Amino acid sequence: MFTSEQKKFTRLPLGFVFPFSCRQMALDKAELISWSKGFQCSNVEGKDVVQLLQAAISRQEVVALMNNTVGAMMTCSTPQKPCEIALVVGSGTNCCFMAESRLLELADVTSGRMCVNSEWGCLGDDGALDNVLTPYDHRVDQESSNPGERRFEKLVGSVYLGEIVRHAIITLASEQALFVGKNTSALANRGMLTAQQVLGIMDNENGMAKAQDLLESLGLQPSEQDCCRVQQLCRAVVSRAAALSATGLAAVLSHMCYSRQQEQLMVNVGVDGGLYLTSTRFGEIMRSVVGLLAPECTVNLVPTTDGNGLGAAIVTAVALRLAAQQKKMQQLLGPLQLSHTDLQRVQALMMQEMERGLDKERNAESSLRMLPTYVCHTPDGTERGEFLALDLGGTNFRVLAVNVSQENIDMSSKIYAIPTAIMQGTGEALFDHIMDCIIDFQHEKQMRGQALPLGFTFSFPCQQLGLDKAVLLNWTKGFNASDCEGRDVVQLLRDAAQRKRVGKALKVVAVVNDTVGTMMACGYHDPKCEIGLIVGTGTNTCYMEEMAKVGTVEGDQGRMCINMEWGAFGDNGCIDSYFTNFDRQVDEKTINVGKQRFEKLISGMYLGEIVRHILLALVEEEVLLRGKSSQKLKNRNLLQTKFLSTIEAPGLSLLQVQAILRDLDLDANYEDSVLVREVCQIVSRRAAHLCAAGMAAVVEKMRESRGLEQFTVTVGVDGTLYKMHPYFSQNLHKMLKDLAPRCNVTFMQSEDGSGKGAALVAAVSSLGGWRREGSAS
Ligand code: ADP
Ligand code: MG
Repeated sequence: MFTSEQKKFTRLPLGFVFPFSCRQMALDKAELISWSKGFQCSNVEGKDVVQLLQAAISRQEVVALMNNTVGAMMTCSTPQKPCEIALVVGSGTNCCFMAESRLLELADVTSGRMCVNSEWGCLGDDGALDNVLTPYDHRVDQESSNPGERRFEKLVGSVYLGEIVRHAIITLASEQALFVGKNTSALANRGMLTAQQVLGIMDNENGMAKAQDLLESLGLQPSEQDCCRVQQLCRAVVSRAAALSATGLAAVLSHMCYSRQQEQLMVNVGVDGGLYLTSTRFGEIMRSVVGLLAPECTVNLVPTTDGNGLGAAIVTAVALRLAAQQKKMQQLLGPLQLSHTDLQRVQALMMQEMERGLDKERNAESSLRMLPTYVCHTPDGTERGEFLALDLGGTNFRVLAVNVSQENIDMSSKIYAIPTAIMQGTGEALFDHIMDCIIDFQHEKQMRGQALPLGFTFSFPCQQLGLDKAVLLNWTKGFNASDCEGRDVVQLLRDAAQRKRVGKALKVVAVVNDTVGTMMACGYHDPKCEIGLIVGTGTNTCYMEEMAKVGTVEGDQGRMCINMEWGAFGDNGCIDSYFTNFDRQVDEKTINVGKQRFEKLISGMYLGEIVRHILLALVEEEVLLRGKSSQKLKNRNLLQTKFLSTIEAPGLSLLQVQAILRDLDLDANYEDSVLVREVCQIVSRRAAHLCAAGMAAVVEKMRESRGLEQFTVTVGVDGTLYKMHPYFSQNLHKMLKDLAPRCNVTFMQSEDGSGKGAALVAAVSSLGGWRREGSAS
């Protein structure tokens, strides 16, 4: 509790209702554009009114400045019935509404909604209402303190209604239609008729009596007909004001309905201002006109009670809550947002690890294996022949028949499932299964008995001893079959062929990694393609290195493709400082804890899980789902990486995001949807940026190895994450440009690189492309 003395000095957050046109720069920064409604203090226009107020009340802290319409909107909102439009029809008129942020060019927010203060009182200042204005309106305008401005407000605001009626009466009197033969000098007094009086005269029951009283008090000696006509005039002017506000409201409603891509809109409209609150007729007219003009919208007009004061307090409370939430978000998500310096550091570490990996003595210290592939040339386009290819190590296992001809490369393939029981069973069972698939394929394509050269895309880390000899170092990506690590996979395949008695029909000529296959496939079309990149289930890269820089293979001539196995980058702890708790939680639940650390920050197998762990933490911190823990969210793999692509898809409305989350049984509201999207963006952006840092090291290493000032190269890419995510590739390209400015890098997507590439390696090798393995020709 505060003592009274403490209380005196406690800074209470203050919300400030300021019902004039302001250019709002932030919740607590608003520059007065112009005074209206009779205010005209000097030295305020163009200044930040919060600052002025701040200076005046130095003890209070201003967190929110808002327009009176916003106040009305906030007050009328209840959790069950959010109010998304507010209207003020009092001395002046204005309207604010929740607009889709993506449509707002001024604000640097692109998701969610933001309250827009329309300042519709200014409608017509450019002449747009000229057809509607009567001579009485012109006279009212001329006599006002701001002629030519706020034309719409001057048709609707109560400050002006009495004046419009007065000018109409003057005209009718001068045309001898009213007060014939009477002294009408009293009509010359500005402000002789108030809005209150106009509304009183409109009244069915005692309006006539009120008209008579008033006109008599002005010495006009009205006849019954005079009173009747004045009453009609008052009704006409007020009805027009009501109809015009309703017209404006209908326009806003239709806009909201359309921009939300809804066929119907149901919405609460908070209404404040004396005109609406004191005249039931005003509201009746508004409802019927809105019904006519915006039939697609169902509107509930909610009158405010002290909209302004209460509203300011509510906005202030909301602003404080959001600020606290932002702070928690920043604490949790900050470590996932890597700065330029962080990425340069990752790039330098990658470079250092590459150099160590290529060094004969220090190879074992490096987390990058930098495996020689014995692929010494990229294709030159003259390769020909028919080949069989296998693709193992991705989501699907495939067998392919590939025909490389002068015109193009024809392929036919079949996908075979590898059940988890086989992936994680015995090696013998795995390779038997693979042989069965090959036999089935040959049978189906009527290729039995043909011993075509076979290229084997095997996308796991292998110590390659020759083009057709590859010792599996360790499984990754969920594979874990026994008795395979440390053995030559070509031999394992040949053994299986023996067991199936088809040994003679199998002619394995090359084992390649999928990165190499991808590079070769793209290299067939673009000779500048000397890098292969995969961002799918896992991630990896290969590139053409100068033999002189490859300390692990004899010979200094020419180049050799190096399979970096960059998924394992950091397994020696060198990038641990960039790991977050979320990453560690994901890692702990994998079958290869502590391994493939770089991959686990980037690839499709993990991003969904990272997002899920972050969402769990946000719920825990009561920032998400109002802190209600969700059983569903605790399920591993609830979110696939595809989820990130879906949620981040450009043009997806937040309502759609909300629907997707609800499908997952997550009771998400609008704010939750914004948050979930933000989390997905942060995770996918980090992945793309880390990938860029790695790639920057690769291209810079190539440039340096070749002793070039500038370097132009193409990267062949494969992988569903790279291809399908709406922003991954863009983020990667842009960051790579920043990190490696001296390299001009083009990306080329491979169409089925693994299959095509394996065939091309087989083609190049069987045609004698690489005469001596182990040293470049
Ligand atoms: P692989 O790398 O196994 O050869 P892919 O390149 O097809 O196979 O990548 C599969 C991975 O891509 C899956 O792990 C999945 O997480 C991810 N993925 C699938 N669909 C999408 C998508 N629409 N957006 C982003 N990632 C996706
Ligand atoms: Mg693949």
